[in-house]
Amino acid sequence: MTDKYLIFGAPDIRQAEIDEVVDSLHRGWLGTGPKVARFEREFASYKGVDEHFVAAVNSCTAALHLSMIAAGIQPGDEVITTAMTFCATVNAIIHAGGTPVLADIDPYTWNIDPADIERRITPRTRAILPVHFAGRPCDMHAIMDIARRHNLKVIEDCAHAIESEYKGQKTGTFGDFGCFSFYVTKNVATGEGGMVIAKREEDIARIKTLALHGMSKDAWRRFSDSGYKHYQVVECGFKYNMMDLQAALGIHQLARVEENWLKRQAIWNRYQQAFANLPVTRPQEPEPDTRHAYHLYTLLIDEERSGISRDGFLQRMHERGIGTGVHYLSIAEHPYYQQRYGWRPEQWPNAMLVGRETVSLPLSAKLETTLTNQVILEVLAAFLKL
Ligand SMILES: *Cc1c(COP(=O)(O)O)cnc(C)c1O
Repeated sequence: MTDKYLIFGAPDIRQAEIDEVVDSLHRGWLGTGPKVARFEREFASYKGVDEHFVAAVNSCTAALHLSMIAAGIQPGDEVITTAMTFCATVNAIIHAGGTPVLADIDPYTWNIDPADIERRITPRTRAILPVHFAGRPCDMHAIMDIARRHNLKVIEDCAHAIESEYKGQKTGTFGDFGCFSFYVTKNVATGEGGMVIAKREEDIARIKTLALHGMSKDAWRRFSDSGYKHYQVVECGFKYNMMDLQAALGIHQLARVEENWLKRQAIWNRYQQAFANLPVTRPQEPEPDTRHAYHLYTLLIDEERSGISRDGFLQRMHERGIGTGVHYLSIAEHPYYQQRYGWRPEQWPNAMLVGRETVSLPLSAKLETTLTNQVILEVLAAFLKL
């Protein structure tokens, strides 16, 4: 039907991004420099926080890892996160030396269930790592209340949730840390890229040091024109800094974040209406007094009820030239975690079920009306067996 394959999560790159990258190339300043500083300022302003409380890094995975370290996670410490997330969330806990403890999701919102967090708290629990899944904000009042009562750190995985708000407060500003992704498929794309927001300025200072080999703060200005400065290594750090080439994309992507949000909201709403009578489970409408980031539009396909299996549907859409995604198989489906922690998917039944039935449809700001119509027609055809 389509002469071109519709790639899932294709970024919307415009001339402004291209010109900004070319400008960096002409100037010869490719690495961390003025454009990263500007992107940090503008991101902080978008999230309504002071620029001294953010740090750009080269991925959300790096942001999560550094936040774990800055939160003081030590070997033996337990961190509670959701069974329905990308592997990077769990890996960040493990890389910091912590022990991941999974909580199940709420069967309707698909976000971490605060009651299950509470059940899994032990004397070794140190932190909670909620994920605002698909862009729907978690129940942050309940989660922050649990954290206060048990003296736990909170690290928000906001990879899907740049634009999200919960009861008038922006996601990433509830916890001690908020971690954002600018990966190709995310709502703001720099190719690879990430950002941390922290509650305390000293935590951001430590994260900036850790992101650049553990070199003292002035090292970020080492190559400026104010003369050579010796640097001191004060910790064993990492190579997690963002490049100006990435920030060049981010500056212009961020400038269109609201425009793109409106476009994705319109597509999300069209899907909701178009699929109302299909034998599938659609996402819940956003809760009152919250803002959904519309990062993913996912359906649940139950073979018995839908007449087609999830994987059969994925294959059919692929054959019709439409790229789809699976977000995600539940964490306990993966052999590494099964072998290391003895986990079985059945221990988190809600996450297991969603992981086995979920499919994400294209939801890019780039998706024009005709393409959205084609996706809708192909989805309808798959269930009406046309
Ligand atoms: C994409 C994603 C990440 C990792 O982001 P990167 O920037 O690719 O490292 C982490 N958590 C979730 C929920 C994600 O979707």
